Amino acid sequence: MTHVIIAGGSLAGLVTAKAISPYFDSIDIFEADSKSEDLGPRKGVPQGRHVHGLLKGGANALINLFPDLPEKLEANGATSADFCRDVKWYINKRFMPRFSGSIPIYFQSRPLLEYCIREEVSALENVQIHYGTKVSDFTYDPSEERVTGVVTGGDHDTKYTHTAELVIDATGRGSLLPKWLKQKKLGEVPTENTVVNLGYASCFLKLPPDSSRDWSSLLVYPTGPTEVRGCTLVSVENDKWLLTLAGYHKDHPPADREGFLEFARKLPRPEVYEAVKDAEFLSEISLHKFPSSQYRKYFEMSDFPAGIIPVGDTNISLNPLFGQGMSVAILSATSLGDVLAQTDFADKGAYSRIATVYHRRLRQIFTTPWDLAMGQDFKYPETVGKKPFGWRIKNIFKDLILSSKSEDVIESFFKVVHLVDKEWVFYHPKRALKVLMTSNKQ
Ligand SMILES: Cc1cc2nc3c(=O)[nH]c(=O)nc-3n(C[C@H](O)[C@H](O)[C@H](O)COP(=O)(O)OP(=O)(O)OC[C@H]3O[C@@H](n4cnc5c(N)ncnc54)[C@H](O)[C@@H]3O)c2cc1C
Repeated sequence: MTHVIIAGGSLAGLVTAKAISPYFDSIDIFEADSKSEDLGPRKGVPQGRHVHGLLKGGANALINLFPDLPEKLEANGATSADFCRDVKWYINKRFMPRFSGSIPIYFQSRPLLEYCIREEVSALENVQIHYGTKVSDFTYDPSEERVTGVVTGGDHDTKYTHTAELVIDATGRGSLLPKWLKQKKLGEVPTENTVVNLGYASCFLKLPPDSSRDWSSLLVYPTGPTEVRGCTLVSVENDKWLLTLAGYHKDHPPADREGFLEFARKLPRPEVYEAVKDAEFLSEISLHKFPSSQYRKYFEMSDFPAGIIPVGDTNISLNPLFGQGMSVAILSATSLGDVLAQTDFADKGAYSRIATVYHRRLRQIFTTPWDLAMGQDFKYPETVGKKPFGWRIKNIFKDLILSSKSEDVIESFFKVVHLVDKEWVFYHPKRALKVLMTSNKQ
């Protein structure tokens, strides 16, 4: 009987459960939050109050795992859009051209997306979700140098030990794994932090009717160093709009309505303010602070133990402005499923090999989103962190792409941003030549 424990039942934990379910007899998910009875945000995922765009790369991987998801989302009121045509996107100080493209996407709130996935996972016969169950420790066998399970409960509750062949850590950015590894003298996780001091403020709105509105999302991406404020306005379920305002380096939107609208008025473009200035506020304004992007490189640790695998934000927590976090979590979860599909479990060293191959794949998954985010973040002199190799040259090339007259070039950029393609696609000689030939900057 093979058994897996997943700590954390949010996006990464749920998607991982589905991806690995064919390979194990039973999977227990331990989630600290109690079961939510409604579709609202929950305590363990406070960021769920803010816009959560699902990129096409993440959506593709998700739909591969959950083929009924699109119908489920639509039945719950999610809206669908053609990213190239229906999203009005200001980036690099201009609005991108809009055209019919091949990047269909869904818009919904984060709680709705999680709810639809959770319903699917709850229906799996070999998966059990235990709510209100906090993982407080991992158990370790030093003779075998492997994690053997988890401890639940703690301070005021009874403690229980649970054993498993494999433990998945999906407890997000606040994971106890880095500290635990250090305490066990298994090493310190090499971690990159890029300080952006981002502030978010979001609320649901009802927009006044406007027959000239020809978009279902309006994105304003600030370009450093001069533009520090950005926003996403998006049509979500139940005819609501969700507006997230954000500011880099401590220029943060406030939680009062007047200040919120005033912040919107001073965005780099007036369109958002014009769209929302007479809107009805349907919720309180929620705030969130995001100090830094964080990249924990478990794959660089020589003594990383067998029997435990980190997924989702535990590994990498990206500047949310670029909407990559969930997609990266989904891609890493599905990649674990792919690794398991090629594993011979009868082999004695199977579990250490799973970790080695999986970590190698993670590195490939993370490079594009991390580099894209860093390219934008380091345009601000206040950003503190390790600059990726060649970021300035890459930025110059991206400027050329973004000024291209060619829809094909623009769409290929969108596909990279959506994590459908890797960043190196830009630099293929044929593509690079086309970028140079079609750039408006020549
Ligand atoms: C303001 C903001 C906006 C964002 N916008 C976007 C966006 O537009 N698009 C996008 O793709 N991503 C976005 N993200 C990122 C996205 O939220 C994360 O990447 C994603 O939620 C990662 O999922 P996860 O399951 O790894 O972690 P989390 O969603 O953080 O979940 C961790 C789970 O573990 C549980 N837990 C924690 N500790 C324990 C424990 N000890 N025992 C048991 N359970 C535990 C928590 O209750 C929670 O359910 C945004 C993030 C922020 C902060």
